[in-house]
Amino acid sequence: MTNKLIPVTQPFLPELSEFIPLLEKIWDNRWLTNNGPFHQELEGKLCEYLGVEYVSLFNNATIALITALQAMRISGEVITTPYSFVATSHSIMWNGLAPVFVDIDPATFNIDPAKIEAAITPRTTAIMPVHCYSNPCDVEAIQKIADNYGLKVIYDAAHAFGVNYKGQSLLKWGDLSILSFHATKVFNTFEGGAIICPDAKTKQRIDCLKNFGISDELTVTAPGINGKMSEINAAFGLVQLKHIDKAMQQRQTIDECYRQALADVNGITLYQHDVHANSNFSYFPILVEADYPLSRDELYDKLKANNILSRRYFYPLISNMPMYRGLPSASMAHLPLANALADKVLCLPIYSDLTDSALSMIIECISRVD
Ligand SMILES: *Cc1c(COP(=O)(O)O)cnc(C)c1O
Repeated sequence: MTNKLIPVTQPFLPELSEFIPLLEKIWDNRWLTNNGPFHQELEGKLCEYLGVEYVSLFNNATIALITALQAMRISGEVITTPYSFVATSHSIMWNGLAPVFVDIDPATFNIDPAKIEAAITPRTTAIMPVHCYSNPCDVEAIQKIADNYGLKVIYDAAHAFGVNYKGQSLLKWGDLSILSFHATKVFNTFEGGAIICPDAKTKQRIDCLKNFGISDELTVTAPGINGKMSEINAAFGLVQLKHIDKAMQQRQTIDECYRQALADVNGITLYQHDVHANSNFSYFPILVEADYPLSRDELYDKLKANNILSRRYFYPLISNMPMYRGLPSASMAHLPLANALADKVLCLPIYSDLTDSALSMIIECISRVD
């Protein structure tokens, strides 16, 4: 094989020359972190761009998830999905709480609200769903259950940057939503994240918790953490924001090409975008079914042999990892649909700079199996 390695994802980067003047400003004013001018500006610009009331920036989404659970004073058990990145369940464990897994809806890959009620116990205080691949959860059904049982809803919205649902930001649903700005995400600040919250009082509490629980010069009111985003990351975010619409359009073009080319390939199933939402085209998962000539792992290996990196995302399932598999809710019999999905999913390369020739090569590799 002679083609250059095609990675599964590649971070979008603006021209370096656009970033330098912002660095010069930081060097001039020597305000490096702790709610500096770029931090404040990015919070404001993100509120505007996302169409939300309050944004609290973080150094990454994992610390933001951990802090979100603290901010809502969650205790006992938290209902969540096993079909996610490990940080979702880890954030629950880092608070000394018990994750309780509920199976997914195979049409959306998200937690199945019809199965949530059966998992509620007197110790349950919250639900932490994930908008998988930017596809919205059934937010109405989840909210109804939460209201009936007095539970908080904290969305892991790491995939859901810029997603609107029925005409308004998806991030407005639930008590809090957490975004990731990690290098592999649609909108990146190298490392970074944010909590979206609905009111000033909650933002104040979150801002306090992410700064060691310091509320003023002489008063520490909570055992907080250091979750602050630095001025360098915030400044970079401001530059990224100028290009995000174009970056998502480029991803959309690739998504459409894949769909057109792979729609009729025997044994390959494509997932459907929610008609009530706009996707951000962050991932392109395909399902390798039993009637495809190769197994999922054989296709993964074939792509790799052709210098194409795909990703079994999410596999293994969180509930099958050593630190979770002993939980009563983690058994395979309890989570058949999530297990089936994890065994057949493969995420294909998608990013702004993916070339047409690379795209054709990937498509050919999947559609032509001799
Ligand atoms: C990326 C990701 C995270 C973690 O985000 P970081 O910013 O890397 O900490 C959490 N949950 C999901 C679903 C993710 O995809």
